[in-house]
Amino acid sequence: MLYVVGHKNPDTDSICSAIAYAELKRRLGTDAIPARLGEPNPETKFVLEKFGFSPPELIESADGKKIVLVDHSDKAQSVDGLENAEIVEIIDHHKIGDITTPNPIFFLALPVGCTATVVKLLYDYHGVEIPKNIAGLLLSAILSDTVIFKSATTTEKDIKAAKDLARIAGVDNINAYGIQIKSKLSNVDALSAEEILKRDFKEFDMSGNKVGIGQIELVDLNLIEKRIPELISTMKDLKEKESFNGIYLMLTDIIKEGTLLLAVVDDDGVVEKAFGKRLSDNRVWLEKVMSRKKEVVPPLESAYSS
Ligand code: MG
Ligand code: MG
Ligand code: MG
Repeated sequence: MLYVVGHKNPDTDSICSAIAYAELKRRLGTDAIPARLGEPNPETKFVLEKFGFSPPELIESADGKKIVLVDHSDKAQSVDGLENAEIVEIIDHHKIGDITTPNPIFFLALPVGCTATVVKLLYDYHGVEIPKNIAGLLLSAILSDTVIFKSATTTEKDIKAAKDLARIAGVDNINAYGIQIKSKLSNVDALSAEEILKRDFKEFDMSGNKVGIGQIELVDLNLIEKRIPELISTMKDLKEKESFNGIYLMLTDIIKEGTLLLAVVDDDGVVEKAFGKRLSDNRVWLEKVMSRKKEVVPPLESAYSS
């Protein structure tokens, strides 16, 4: 049995690409099931329900399992127990992480906006027709990861894949559907500050510095304005408790197209070095910045390395 699994703090791409890729593996004759490493977020839950899926099996450890990783290749983001697992494939769209394997494997990472785009291309490559409900999942993941094609990570391949998938899934208005799913993550009233910080939180090793970067995408920043002091104090607590060198939270406004970056860091200079703007009150507005992967991680990595 092969487990197809995305990263911790699963997003819609990690869950939907795992389901869709496990389905492709089965259609190609391999016994495969999707798995997840945590609770699906409200956007993902909406998408799963809409297309008639229940959440994949929750796994705590990869110990003794055969594993396909989707949507990541970093140990810190991956399932526990990887040392005692057999990684057989990696399908991704991020920079290559620090996971290594003792044997050659099928490793496909494309510089596109979403793992679902890569999965869609693999269905095409194998000549496997995409089932209607799977097309719906893949479309949703693309709209989620690319922020309805507004993120700097968006490529022509993502747009082309989304259009094909929308046709198969019977989604007529791609943009309206995108706003519908993104708005599911915009209501943060019921969440504690810690839940907001951790919902889409990734850890990185940047030149020996332990750095955590969370992101929340909102249709309007006013929805979270009042919570900022509380968020900053939660970031301070987490930084202390887990010995981070820096904790960042991107509050991304998908309509205004920019990010209010909150930062609790050892040295403020790192933010100025990375973004050319000074932190004030632990915050800085980054016009047009929407992508953690493309517009926040690389400048921070080079700032920490210099
Ligand atoms: Mg992801
Ligand atoms: Mg992704
Ligand atoms: Mg994401």
